[in-house]
Amino acid sequence: MIAGEGALPERLARAIALAGPMPVSQFMAAANAHYYATRDPLGAAGDFVTAPEISQMFGELVGLWCADLWDRAGRPHCHWVELGPGRGTLAADARRSMAKAGFAPAIHLVETSPTLRAAQAERVADATWHDGVETLPTDGALLVVANEFFDALPIRQMVATPAGWRERLVACQDTLFLPIAGKGVPAVVVPEPLRDAAPGSVLEVSPASVAIVRALTVRLMRQGGAMLVVDYGHEGPLLGETLQAVRGHGFANPYETPGEVDLSAHVDFTTLAAAAQVAGAVAWGPVEQGEWLVKLGIDARAAALARSSPDRAEAIVADRARLVQGMGSLFKAMAVTAPAWPQPAGFA
Ligand code: SAH
Repeated sequence: MIAGEGALPERLARAIALAGPMPVSQFMAAANAHYYATRDPLGAAGDFVTAPEISQMFGELVGLWCADLWDRAGRPHCHWVELGPGRGTLAADARRSMAKAGFAPAIHLVETSPTLRAAQAERVADATWHDGVETLPTDGALLVVANEFFDALPIRQMVATPAGWRERLVACQDTLFLPIAGKGVPAVVVPEPLRDAAPGSVLEVSPASVAIVRALTVRLMRQGGAMLVVDYGHEGPLLGETLQAVRGHGFANPYETPGEVDLSAHVDFTTLAAAAQVAGAVAWGPVEQGEWLVKLGIDARAAALARSSPDRAEAIVADRARLVQGMGSLFKAMAVTAPAWPQPAGFA
């Protein structure tokens, strides 16, 4: 018997001692599951801040995006779904603006962390929670939103060496975790234009992300609806290591204190779009978050908010700037729609 006892680093060390070094994806999945299960990482006192936590304008505009799409699709029976809803702030803000537009779908939250489920219940008490996308309702269309969700999903890393591509594994010496070049992988798993990369080059792939996009796209094809993904990332596939650890609003070593730091990696929007297209759906974007928010009317929303709370006018201008310029060109929005659904706003 192998007992699942002790703190996470000890359990990881024991697993590596017994079964050998593990893929980066297995290390990241275990570390993040522990990290999110044991804390609320968001906000000034936490490790990082996300767009819905910066300003209510973000969730409100996401809600309007959903309501507009639902309206132009002919107002079908719909469920609203959020993947990795954090504190539930986006869901609460989106719901308020959807209701103003006459759209009041049931709310479904896909969340594995008990701590964050409790935070979400304070803001969206009547939601239905799911461990994964498999149990989402099968009646009616799905409008799915995922902000900074896919960056938290596990990635595999391939490293180019003079002897070919290898999968990076995480080894353990004493209590120190460290990345090593592990088993060889056949060159065909590396996209052709990148195959001859210089030794030391790193390629990241996220099969877990592709599997979720695929499963949801199958649902959109059957049930109708759309998915909105907002995250940091690039049009890929690209070479380069983006795995990062964040703690207390600064960078940390991803291999130190697993489960106590937030591990994330850039999202490869091209690969996610391709997964949706393979399953028959239409992919839109990615476009930069700032450009997308401006097209959705963030300036009018900021002006209206400033008029109704003049004492907060300066803060509202600063929040708008942070969402539109501060998050820079790194944050992007991408959408997937069922073929019979209209073109979503902000992607023209
Ligand atoms: N969307 C929120 C929170 C982002 S943090 C915001 O923008 O503020 C990432 C979120 O994804 C957390 O809620 C975390 O618990 C959740 N999460 C991470 N991995 C998950 C997984 N495999 N399944 C479901 N939820 C996950």
